[in-house]
Amino acid sequence: MIITEYDAIQIRFGELWLKGENRGMFIEALYRNVSNAIRGVKHGMLAKERDSFMINLDKESELNKLLTTLSFLPGISWFSPVVIAKPSVDDIIRKANLFGEEAKGAVRVEAKRSYKGHRFTSTQLIGRMIKAAQSGKLKLDLDKYACNVLYINVEKGKTTLHLNKMIGIGGLPVGTSGRCIVLLSGGIDSPVAAFYAMKRGLRPIYLHFHTFPDNKTAMRSKIPMIIRMLSVHSNGAKIYYVPAHLFQAVVMKVPSKYELVLYKRFMYRVAEKIAESEGAIAIVTGESVGQVASQTIENMLASQEGIKPLILRPLTGFDKQEIIAKARELGTYNLSIEEYRDVCSIKIKRPATRTNAALISRLYRSCKLGAAEAKSLEASLSTHCQ
Ligand code: ATP
Ligand code: MG
Repeated sequence: MIITEYDAIQIRFGELWLKGENRGMFIEALYRNVSNAIRGVKHGMLAKERDSFMINLDKESELNKLLTTLSFLPGISWFSPVVIAKPSVDDIIRKANLFGEEAKGAVRVEAKRSYKGHRFTSTQLIGRMIKAAQSGKLKLDLDKYACNVLYINVEKGKTTLHLNKMIGIGGLPVGTSGRCIVLLSGGIDSPVAAFYAMKRGLRPIYLHFHTFPDNKTAMRSKIPMIIRMLSVHSNGAKIYYVPAHLFQAVVMKVPSKYELVLYKRFMYRVAEKIAESEGAIAIVTGESVGQVASQTIENMLASQEGIKPLILRPLTGFDKQEIIAKARELGTYNLSIEEYRDVCSIKIKRPATRTNAALISRLYRSCKLGAAEAKSLEASLSTHCQ
């Protein structure tokens, strides 16, 4: 099929149906997200229908770019370029023939009438299509396991036809679950955690602690490049850069085996302050239970003592290979493995694996990390990434 023969792109939302009374709010949010995401791509009108959205296509429309953009948006269960026919058997057959070339082989037909008032049933339609296939371009496959499926949906005023479905990310539209502060390092894991937070409807505000002499240098590092890769899912994001040298200066006073847990406590406390000012009530990290010596549940508990926002660790059930595979898919992997001086590149040989909240609180007070926290926040800088 040549691209100009498509009339629209149909977008379907899956899990949104489960939301009962709030369904309208979820659909509105997805509509806004789609409309913002496709703003820079040529397309016709975006229209809301009963259980889907339609992006109308005209001669100028950039079909492939539109499809790529939609593949990044949480909340979409599937989407597909569609051809629109009249709700009449003859027109449906005529339009179905357009798919003959594109299918590169036989197709199974799945016909559905969401409007039952027409004078033909789905079975009668398929019967007529089988007859027509003997002479037309479209070859039919009656095997129910056939991999190419031509979907036909007969509505009241029109019929949509599409070959197969492009599977979307699913989940919930970004923003519908509120905001979260994503602790983003220069490593592999946290960008993947950010993706899963977005998939559950959270709008990310990134927070990165850096070891550069100033924020401007951090803004020219790979960090904004990683965030740009992730921003295709949220249509831009806000980033906070916070210098870590004040933390590094005071933490020298405590035994180095506690440094990582103190660092986490410090990051959470700064994140908590930013969360307050941003109206966020969750913090997201890339930790996974037991992945490294410092990520024991005892250490996690000790580091989060007294922190009000909910701390989400979406990668808890993942092993490193799964995280790497997802990072490759998201396109962040190559940036993540580029050399980078992260705060914890001060690799501690034997970090404490079983700390507790009382001990960490005592150490925190003894080296006056609270004061370093306030000063670090004062020295922070925030920007937007599109
Ligand atoms: P990652 O690959 O995401 O760096 P990791 O396996 O290296 O994770 P840690 O270095 O212990 O593990 O970091 C655990 C989590 O702490 C990170 O996933 C991230 O959420 C947060 N974190 C670590 N370093 C930073 C940083 N410099 N700025 C912001 N958050 C950080
Ligand atoms: Mg790391």
